[in-house]
Amino acid sequence: MREYGLFINGEWMVTEEKCAVMHKATGEAVAMVSVAGKQEVTAAVSAAETAFKTIKMEPYQRYEILMKASQLLIKNLQQMAETLSMEVGKPIKEAFAEVRRAEQTLLLSAEEAKRMTGEMVPLQGAPGCGKRWAFTVRQPVGVVCAITPFNFPLNLSCHKIGPALAAGNSVVYKPASTTPLSAVLLCEIFAEAGLPQGYLNLVTGSGAKLGRYLTEEQRIGFYSFTGSPAVGKSLLQNTGMRRVALELGSNSANIVHHDANIKAAAEACARYAFANAGQVCISCQRVYVHRQVYEEFCAKAVAYTQKLVVGNPLEPDTDIGPMISEQEAERAEEWVKEAVAQGAGILTGGKRRNAWFEPTIMTHVQPQMKVVCQEIFAPVFSIVPYEDIQEAIQFVNDSVYGLQAGVFTNSMDIAKQCALQLEVGGVMINDGATFRTDNMPYGGIKDSGLGKEGPQYAVREMTEEKLIVFA
Ligand code: NAP
Repeated sequence: MREYGLFINGEWMVTEEKCAVMHKATGEAVAMVSVAGKQEVTAAVSAAETAFKTIKMEPYQRYEILMKASQLLIKNLQQMAETLSMEVGKPIKEAFAEVRRAEQTLLLSAEEAKRMTGEMVPLQGAPGCGKRWAFTVRQPVGVVCAITPFNFPLNLSCHKIGPALAAGNSVVYKPASTTPLSAVLLCEIFAEAGLPQGYLNLVTGSGAKLGRYLTEEQRIGFYSFTGSPAVGKSLLQNTGMRRVALELGSNSANIVHHDANIKAAAEACARYAFANAGQVCISCQRVYVHRQVYEEFCAKAVAYTQKLVVGNPLEPDTDIGPMISEQEAERAEEWVKEAVAQGAGILTGGKRRNAWFEPTIMTHVQPQMKVVCQEIFAPVFSIVPYEDIQEAIQFVNDSVYGLQAGVFTNSMDIAKQCALQLEVGGVMINDGATFRTDNMPYGGIKDSGLGKEGPQYAVREMTEEKLIVFA
């Protein structure tokens, strides 16, 4: 079985303690990965700090390295996609799509490296400042800590590492324990792309332990975290005056008005609910459908869902693979059973086999049920009828989360009303809440997070804007 080390200061370092990485479809161990301790975290931060202070990378060099890394991702497309499929349990077609998105994310980051800019400040407009001349410049924060989740381990890592390097920062990178192999491959790619040693350092191991060491490290200037709200909030409490970007969870909602294309809306909602076995932060979890088209919507969503292929994620036709663990599938099953005991109905699905949970559609749910008000993070969504649009908007906003929402309608008035009143970071008109492309500003409000991702926006978060005034 292959063993992988930590990547610190441009070298692979094997530790005594190791952790097995499981094949999520077979449950077999496929590799062993080193587990970092406090000493290795300190070494990784020292390497990042030294690289940042002593090796100057000009913007054009950063652009070239990021471009090269994006090309190498595609050169290694097959290996990377198979690794993702195996370590996440992600259907192989979705794994290929993730690698292609990651290529775009690095490419967008490369472009940002060349256009980091401040702005002229019209100081002359202030009384007595007629002769002054002022502008801002953007400067890197120094060492960025990137902590990533299991569900899109490659692309979400590129959303942190890409902009951090584009802005001239160095990085300490901590991937999810269940999915460290794509992180190893990504570090190999950056090394081959010519990234100077120390600019990217990989520490693997349990987040609960490493999170403490990483937040205690005062030399880290910025934390970019994607993961669950509970961990995000604890990170925020422990980082003091250091800056933090948090991309957290959601129970994303969609509104389907009676004037929409119902078949297209039903299929989009089902597709978005079940991609990556529902383990997507903007997965479609709640759908509010106008009562006039409720029956039609339910029938079309069920028909689409029943055609989905549940199976081995490495098979090209598979739509739904296993969840990240059997334990997580059991949790989803419990939540569904609890809702049914409280009066909910199941239109299709609802059963579990090991780590596989059937694509499931629920009805007759109540706002306080876990399947509605908490993030289910499983292939399950609920359909709820509404009478008028104001009621639907209230349903969507009745959530501690606010990442994105989708609205299906052919009315400009309804679209405008929803766009302005929905309490979320992004509103998709005639598409689901789950739409994301990598150059858009992406991030939530309420418990869904702080700050925006998308290379152009992340570069702003990861730099200090400094004012320079000439008297
Ligand atoms: P998670 O359990 O919060 O883990 C995320 C990362 O944080 C992992 O690397 C984890 O390491 C680490 N971690 C755990 N405890 C920590 C601590 N005390 N301090 C610092 N780091 C710690 O989340 P997940 O289960 O991997 O991912 C699912 C969640 O991510 C969902 O809530 C989903 O909505 C959210 N998500 C949000 C977005 C977005 O862009 N808004 C995108 C994707 C996912 P270990 O793996 O070693 O525990």
